[in-house]
Amino acid sequence: MDINKLLAGVDCECNRRHTCDIKYVFIEQDAIKHLSTICGEYSTILLVADENTYLAAGQKTVDALQGKIIKKVIFSGEKILVPNEAAVSAVIDALDGVDIIIGVGSGVIQDLCKYVSFQRKLPYMIVATAPSMDGYASNGAAMIMNGMKVTYIATLPIAILADTEVLARAPIEMIKAGYGDIIGKFSALNDWKLSCCVTGEYFCQYIYDVTKEQIDRTLNLADGILKRNAESIKILMEALVVVGIMMSFAGSSRPASGSEHHLSHFFEITGIIDNTDYFSHGIDVAYSTVITAEIREKILKHSFPTNNYQPDLTELSQQLKKVYNSVADGCIELQKKVGNYSANRAAIYLEKEVAIREILSEMPSSQRIKEMLSLVELDMDQFYMHYGEEKIQEAILYAKDLKDRYSVLWVNYSFFGNTKV
Ligand SMILES: [Zn+2]
Ligand SMILES: [Zn+2]
Repeated sequence: MDINKLLAGVDCECNRRHTCDIKYVFIEQDAIKHLSTICGEYSTILLVADENTYLAAGQKTVDALQGKIIKKVIFSGEKILVPNEAAVSAVIDALDGVDIIIGVGSGVIQDLCKYVSFQRKLPYMIVATAPSMDGYASNGAAMIMNGMKVTYIATLPIAILADTEVLARAPIEMIKAGYGDIIGKFSALNDWKLSCCVTGEYFCQYIYDVTKEQIDRTLNLADGILKRNAESIKILMEALVVVGIMMSFAGSSRPASGSEHHLSHFFEITGIIDNTDYFSHGIDVAYSTVITAEIREKILKHSFPTNNYQPDLTELSQQLKKVYNSVADGCIELQKKVGNYSANRAAIYLEKEVAIREILSEMPSSQRIKEMLSLVELDMDQFYMHYGEEKIQEAILYAKDLKDRYSVLWVNYSFFGNTKV
């Protein structure tokens, strides 16, 4: 896969020109050395890292930037860094005279740099330290503001530099999380096709195919990933970056995020509200993919109903408040705007039953997904034990209310409502 060729853009058969604003992607041994050339025009650089990510690649980054003025914000590694107001102001306070931000890290560091870069209209680059998620090449900054998770539209990095030796030394849980985030694309792509069929949403076969190709490449890597094989880690990172580029091409995270991500957001948001533990993003996504595969299997076993479940909004509002506290009102407003509560889709489901059944059947079985996860020693029982049956059922029921995106969770709700089948 020639990523830099992809960055030039594609005139697509879907009648759109797909583009991505990232200028350089280097995923190779010693990728960081390219900083000296691509930072030529910048003189004062703010390096943002935490203690762990600085240890992983900070010195290499500084060495590659010889002759530049380098300021640093290095967050203490005592606690997990949260991308909140305090972290944002620590970065903003250091920006005086700075003409580019370089984030050295993975998820949180790049969300933080992305967010500040957008707020302050300053360019940024990212030196990746773990192949843990697909956000490197996406423009969404997942922040925790006022104690709540909010995803902001922000800027793309000018460059992504991923040194395969650095990535291969990342904590194994982060590497597994990256694999899990890719496995989740089975479900995301299936939801996209489903939405195109049911709601007429835009769909691009090219983006679908390129994303699907990344899952297939990644699946062969499981063994190499566990052994931290540099070539396997390189292909995993390429898959994560390419999926990010596909989001830019689609103009949204649609190809990469569907019901499985909605479930993972449910676990994260309720974890923040209740102050309880949740798995890291890619691992929650991986386990949630099994759950969405089970939902598709359940729907396929039933005859399509002639009536659509319609919620009692007062009752629903009380239930959502119990689960989401202050976030509940926002969910209801969002769904009213999108029209999901009032939509009666029974007729369209019946009219398109054959096509819908075909799409849902394309998803690998829940058993097959479990096997894919066990290849990297992710055990579904850990998920069941951690969250418990009741919370998982709540997720299936209420994760859909967090987003304006149509997915199989809405089919499940239309067919079965609040009843557990
Ligand atoms: Zn297209
Ligand atoms: Zn993800």
